[in-house]
Amino acid sequence: MRTAMSHADYWYSMRFWTNIRHMAVGEFELIKRYFRAFSTVDATDLVLGIGDDASLHRMRQDMEWAVSTDSSVEGVHWPRDFPLDTAADRAVCAALSDLAAMGAHADCAWLNVVAASEQAVAEMGKGCQRALRRHGVVLAGGDTVCAPMNMIAVTVAGSVPAGAAMRRDAARPGESLWLAGRVGFAAYALQCWRQGARAVEQVASFTRVQPRLCEGERLRRLGVRCCVDVSDGLAQDAGHIAEASNVCLEIELSQLPDWNVLRRCAGERATHCALAGGEDYALLFTAPADMPGLDAFARPIGRCVAVDGAPCVRVFERGREIGVPGGYAHFG
Ligand code: ADP
Ligand code: MG
Repeated sequence: MRTAMSHADYWYSMRFWTNIRHMAVGEFELIKRYFRAFSTVDATDLVLGIGDDASLHRMRQDMEWAVSTDSSVEGVHWPRDFPLDTAADRAVCAALSDLAAMGAHADCAWLNVVAASEQAVAEMGKGCQRALRRHGVVLAGGDTVCAPMNMIAVTVAGSVPAGAAMRRDAARPGESLWLAGRVGFAAYALQCWRQGARAVEQVASFTRVQPRLCEGERLRRLGVRCCVDVSDGLAQDAGHIAEASNVCLEIELSQLPDWNVLRRCAGERATHCALAGGEDYALLFTAPADMPGLDAFARPIGRCVAVDGAPCVRVFERGREIGVPGGYAHFG
């Protein structure tokens, strides 16, 4: 139950906690040490980066911005015994995955870091830097706050030719449903982590997120119009396309990439991991079955059909329909 705080307590806690200025090393020194040091302003469209009240960006003609923000909280999005640099690396990659789903080129990121100690700021800074470097994304700004918890909110911006972004509302009956990447393995790896596994090959599917930025842009250039990244479970994210496009999506489990491998490792849990697990960041999209170039990096896993009543997601295993578990819900 929430307890009421007196006014004085409130102001005391605000003064004490909300700003890292009250730590041994000030906020601005931390920003300089752990974030500003790896921000470059050589990106063509970034006019002014870290250090002022806002970053400045040149607007490009005939382009649109794709902007997304994502929060990751210790104990919710990553286990408490997880290295903070890995958690921050994941958080950046998860945010970038939203740009991949839109078919955008990833340009800039802003990091809102809430940390309980300087050590935590340093570790999160290290992980963010690693992920941003890997994907050639420029750090344009952020915020750094001290509080008795660790969390990171990542905002990302990318660019896409006007009118060409892939959207959830563009699926059409008659198209196939495709998947670039695997699903279910992140949930299985997290389960292994919780049971004490630490070997890279056992947990990498959870610890290393691969935002499919190249694939996203490739899909957009090939003419794909409808895509979503699978962050909350295949069934739930397919549901977003079904709702937005007013179609029904039918998924055949045995067509999922490496379905047999997942069955072998996760056993009975495989169906739940694949459909409701989330965190895999594969790209789910619709496109004609014979669209050239797709099968080099994606697989058809089902089809898109006209609604008969309401939009829906139906799942089959070797032709037999099975129940669809829900995905992750924060307030569910
Ligand atoms: P303001 O008070 O105007 O909001 P701040 O004092 O919070 O600005 O931040 C100073 C500068 O440092 C800003 O340019 C901001 O974008 C940048 N900054 C703060 N924290 C971070 C961070 N974690 N990563 C990147 N840039 C940061
Ligand atoms: Mg300001």
